[in-house]
Amino acid sequence: MNLFDKDGRLDLSRRLFLRSTGGGLLGSGLGLIGPAFAQGGGGSMPGLPPSRPTGRPFPEMEQETPVEPGRRLGWAVVGLGKFALNQILPSFGESRCSKLVALVSGNRQKAEQVASRYGVDTRDLYDYQTFDRIADNPEVDVVYVILPNALHAEYTVRAFKAGKHVFCEKPMAVTVEECETMISAGREAGRKLMVAYRAQFEPHNVEAIRKVRDGEIGALRLVTSDHGRILDPKDPADQWRMVKSLAGGGSRYDIGIYSLQAARYLTGEEPVEAFGQIANTKDDPRFREVEDRVAFQLRFPSGAVANLSSSYSTASVKRIQAFGEKGSIILDPATEYEGNKLALQTEKGRQEVKVKVKEQSQFAAEMDHFSQSVMNNHDPKTPGEEGLRDILIMQAIYQSACEGRPVSMEATGSTR
Ligand code: NDP
Repeated sequence: MNLFDKDGRLDLSRRLFLRSTGGGLLGSGLGLIGPAFAQGGGGSMPGLPPSRPTGRPFPEMEQETPVEPGRRLGWAVVGLGKFALNQILPSFGESRCSKLVALVSGNRQKAEQVASRYGVDTRDLYDYQTFDRIADNPEVDVVYVILPNALHAEYTVRAFKAGKHVFCEKPMAVTVEECETMISAGREAGRKLMVAYRAQFEPHNVEAIRKVRDGEIGALRLVTSDHGRILDPKDPADQWRMVKSLAGGGSRYDIGIYSLQAARYLTGEEPVEAFGQIANTKDDPRFREVEDRVAFQLRFPSGAVANLSSSYSTASVKRIQAFGEKGSIILDPATEYEGNKLALQTEKGRQEVKVKVKEQSQFAAEMDHFSQSVMNNHDPKTPGEEGLRDILIMQAIYQSACEGRPVSMEATGSTR
């Protein structure tokens, strides 16, 4: 029996027939759809869709569409640790221009398990010895280095030698010389380098920067930022952080870098003077080789100052505040993976700022930014030079703490 008339609309007489004859699921189901559909919908009105199945125009897009799979850049992730497995690999699922195609790990069993879950072919697995063979893998465009800090430089340089672009975790490296070598290696290879400063892609931080630039708190006078957590010797991810030859330093390099970055991206300036103090709790085995707490101040050319800190022995804090002549901005928490909060304090009082958070995480956003920089041959937002500046400033802070006096940044050549 045909239930539809010649225009494709439900033939009511037949529907009634089905109901009267106990026409089962089909009849009762149609009854639930409602009168508009059952009576032909807007099909008879000009401009409205017909009731029969039909194609419709492209909807207004709220999200960018992904680029065609064949045009997405292939990424190899080096080091399958806590951050790579919990944050980065899942973020490829939200990516629009980047796809995971290869893995590099010293633990073959783990690499195979991860590869099977993410659809990476076992032919595209490497270890630290076979890494250079990545040069023969045309699927790999970008190498993402997520190793302990002191290994960033070596794997960046080897990736450039293999002809790949490099996306490197923060801190870029542990010495100024290493950063400079990485930058030159990229230039020689004609390949791009970006440091993974996710906070610069995090919507609350982006909005805070916009508010400061747009003068919503007046002239910026002071930035404060504190990043602290408890370093846990039982956590494998924290074990290399206690070893100077792998971490380069303590809380300063690992999380103090978020406080430093905040001062730089909120002021939009480079510091001209640094003063640091370092404190370790006596006899704490965690801090035999690396520093625990660092308090540091920076002075900027405009006269703005920053009061910043990092700690490995205080309860979790990830806070950034910017104080201007007309008000202040509070990001608390500021640099979580998700759930950050932004507030604006003015003479009208304190007001929480609702920030539109896109479907894409800050990790997918920064990876896609780099893929687009490569595809369109743009400079990335946070190139190697940005990472180098942070290491220069970190070293000036360390020097200041050792010498017990402020260090002029012009003398260390760190101004833009
Ligand atoms: P993990 O210890 O969890 O991971 C490091 C991985 O590096 C290991 O799992 C191992 O991978 C590999 N590795 C190679 N050699 C060594 C070695 N000698 N000792 C230890 N690991 C080694 O550290 P995280 O994931 O926490 O940190 C890795 C990097 O990511 C760091 O540079 C850190 O600063 C950065 N990071 C960035 C964050 C951000 O928000 N942007 C957050 C957290 C970390 P495998 O077993 O596969 O060989």
